[in-house]
Amino acid sequence: MINLLNFNQPQLADYFASIGEKPFRAKQLMRWMHHFGVHDFTQMTDIAKSLREKLAVEAEITLPNVQLEQISNDGTRKWLIDVNNKVTDDKYGAANSIETVFIPEDDRGTLCISSQVGCALACTFCSTGAQGFNRNLSVAEIIGQLAIANKSLRGEAGYDLLSANDRIISNVVMMGMGEPLTNYDNVVTAMQIMLDDSAYGLSRRRVTLSTSGIVPAMDKLKEDCPVALAVSLHAPNDALRDVLVPINKKYPIAELMAACNRYLEKAPRDFVTFEYVMLDGINDTVEHAHELLQVIKHVPCKLNLIPFNPFPNSGYQTSKASHIRVFRDILMQAGYIVTVRKTRGDDIDAACGQLAGKVLDKTKRTVKIEAIA
Ligand code: SAH
Ligand code: SF4
Repeated sequence: MINLLNFNQPQLADYFASIGEKPFRAKQLMRWMHHFGVHDFTQMTDIAKSLREKLAVEAEITLPNVQLEQISNDGTRKWLIDVNNKVTDDKYGAANSIETVFIPEDDRGTLCISSQVGCALACTFCSTGAQGFNRNLSVAEIIGQLAIANKSLRGEAGYDLLSANDRIISNVVMMGMGEPLTNYDNVVTAMQIMLDDSAYGLSRRRVTLSTSGIVPAMDKLKEDCPVALAVSLHAPNDALRDVLVPINKKYPIAELMAACNRYLEKAPRDFVTFEYVMLDGINDTVEHAHELLQVIKHVPCKLNLIPFNPFPNSGYQTSKASHIRVFRDILMQAGYIVTVRKTRGDDIDAACGQLAGKVLDKTKRTVKIEAIA
């Protein structure tokens, strides 16, 4: 069965052409599936009955299964989503799962979406990285996270799926589990659906992709689907970044900075956001702040300092609040806009870098049986 959630609008038009139907059907179907969240062909009233019947035979619109929805004291929500529902190659008898997080704020609601089951890049301060990598998510599994969250939040708010236009999810960040640029095609197709006016109609400025710095993919993204860009910098020199973000050995800081500037030629915003995790005694001294100013000086940017969110056996500690303030002030005095990310949802392990899901590690970095149990 073909899952129609895997297609963006042009791909859906090709599909309709391939079954002898008019390509404009793609727009109608995008509206039903994504804008209205209707997944039952029989309810798609402006599509001819004969076509609805044909679709029901050869296609499906299937979301991944939600295993658990948790709500934090601060209103943050987390969905644990089973992404192994049809495959039973799991010798521990446990499914793979990923996590999606919704963060409500006064002026917006941000959904943090995962792109992979685990992550192969093994950044030393990241619990997803510590789990190893299982597989890429499909387009349906990526866009499905938005559909699941949208449906749950709108349903709860009492919005009629078919009529209300108020957006609860106003922003999407590709900052959940996984490195989005190593699942390039599926992530780009899913983002195209987010931007499509017949689907979610989000503006490019409200979709942010965060990357640890896969330079060739950044160059491709600026042509294929330029959205707002966040870059996980985390260290002000190659020696330290090689340790914290090992992909730095392949794409060192100078190359990354040059790629950021190339990206900005096409980006919907005129700055890159550099993310910098604050690790006590590792990357948070006054000297590091001055070194950082040198590294970023040719890239128009904002800075987002993320207090390290601890997880078991990480070996790191969160920087002291006083050190974070000193670090921030040095950057601000140099004229930068600096935000210190508030930790949200840590009572349900929904904070940055705490997303773990249940990864069956194909890289065998760790055998995470305890996490699965
Ligand atoms: N793979 C992408 C996106 C996912 S991580 C990337 O690395 O950019 C989203 C952000 O959370 C990244 O900046 C990441 O470095 C940061 N992060 C990871 N683990 C963290 C932790 N334990 N505490 C705080 N931030 C963390
Ligand atoms: Fe992967 Fe990002 Fe975590 Fe690094 S910080 S291991 S790239 S998810």
